[in-house]
Amino acid sequence: MKDNFLFKPKNHSIKILNHKNDIPIGKIFCVGRNYPKHAEEMNEPIERDEPFFFSKPPQSITQETLISYPNNPNNLQHEVELVVVIGLEGKEIQLKESYKHILGYAVGIDLTKRELQKIAKANSKPWDLSKGFDNSAPISLMKLNQNILLREGKIELRLNGSIKQSGNISEMIWPVDQLISYLSNFITLYPGDIIFTGTPAGVGKVLKNDKIEAWIEGVGNLEVIFN
Ligand code: MN
Repeated sequence: MKDNFLFKPKNHSIKILNHKNDIPIGKIFCVGRNYPKHAEEMNEPIERDEPFFFSKPPQSITQETLISYPNNPNNLQHEVELVVVIGLEGKEIQLKESYKHILGYAVGIDLTKRELQKIAKANSKPWDLSKGFDNSAPISLMKLNQNILLREGKIELRLNGSIKQSGNISEMIWPVDQLISYLSNFITLYPGDIIFTGTPAGVGKVLKNDKIEAWIEGVGNLEVIFN
């Protein structure tokens, strides 16, 4: 490591299930409207030609169970998503080579300040502050699943015990291999980069003291409590 930094760099890392090492994280990309029924509930068109992405900053990622409820929630909403962690550098990755760049998966929640996002959308402004606030991307322990392309599996989110979101990752408009290949045509992907792959229908409001339990078949569980 360089020893001439003016100050010590802030390290952002995530923990792996049943593994002693952590992963230093890099870029965090999220795809919008990747499940047709979610696009419908947002009154947005179902886009099939080109995916669109936005980013979250590293401090959005947390693996803590207890999260401070934001003091300016602006209609805070949950979006459960399959999270892909990249394990191999690549650019202009061919679709059939995408799987080689997968290190593992996690269960994530793309927390969104929906009212702030709505205002941004109406004014053609960026979404950063509605999507990229501190702890806006809670994720489970990463499950190592090197070179395995996940094509199906149930995805669910319960709020205070009742099911709010339920779908299957097979419903994705752009599956994991397409997302990796597409993104890598614009940016180089590095080990530790993270992709949030979009949410199924059923997004909704989160209040202080609420408990979220999210689950993806074959990936794991995530529990988040807002205090
Ligand atoms: Mn999302």
